Amino acid sequence: TETVRLSGVGFGYADGPGVLRDINLILAAGSFHFLTGPSGAGKSTLLKVLTLAERPTAGRLTLFGEDAGEAPRSALPRFRSRMGVVFQDFRLLDHLSAFDNVALPLRLAGAKRDSYADNVVEMLDWVGLGERMDDRPPTLSGGEKQRLAIARAVVNRPDLILADEPTGSVDAAMGERLLKLFQSLNRLGTTVLIASHDETLAAASGASVLRLEGGRLSGGAA
Ligand code: ADP
Ligand code: ADP
Repeated sequence: TETVRLSGVGFGYADGPGVLRDINLILAAGSFHFLTGPSGAGKSTLLKVLTLAERPTAGRLTLFGEDAGEAPRSALPRFRSRMGVVFQDFRLLDHLSAFDNVALPLRLAGAKRDSYADNVVEMLDWVGLGERMDDRPPTLSGGEKQRLAIARAVVNRPDLILADEPTGSVDAAMGERLLKLFQSLNRLGTTVLIASHDETLAAASGASVLRLEGGRLSGGAA
């Protein structure tokens, strides 16, 4: 089965030139991919199309076996509830504790604290932030914020994880540690796509490497 299928997908911002051109991509369920390419190649834009923050201007986008490119707005939360997104700028809430940042997706889904507290603590332990759960994001280092963002993205066990430069603000050792977190999720069956300009990390990961350049995709499962 396929988590993602793009057939002839194109995208351009408003009056600008095409950023994505004729993208054909299949992410099989349980597969692991890096998306590389130079700055400005369209990596973030492709992630925005996959998270349905932007809609394709051409072609077909299928997520979890259902048409997503032309799905009504009312259907978007249902698609998004199956994705975990790690944003390049983290998008943590500075006035909430680390615990409450991770709990947020579960609270928004209507869960009660008693039902999710153990799960949230387990996620924080998993990313090595068990001792920091009462602290707010502004007191955390770059690598800690990154790990907090990852814990929040995965706490409701998504089928698809999309991460935009998740190793962008950490050193090489932390980059490898974060890669191991994504790999362990992938071993549990989660489909993973990591956008990164770090070609060394991508090659070292053993994952399939997709390359975006001039709005076109090459390599991997395309
Ligand atoms: P990457 O993530 O590979 O660095 P982006 O997807 O961020 O690339 O950008 C691809 C192209 O789209 C760039 O030329 C960028 O300037 C342009 N772009 C990105 N976001 C917007 C936007 N909101 N409006 C107009 N152009 C944009
Ligand atoms: P990201 O999802 O990576 O944060 P952004 O949309 O913030 O992506 O920006 C990605 C790139 O697109 C940056 O180089 C930024 O300068 C450029 N960009 C963002 N918004 C616009 C815009 N309205 N017009 C042109 N370029 C833009």
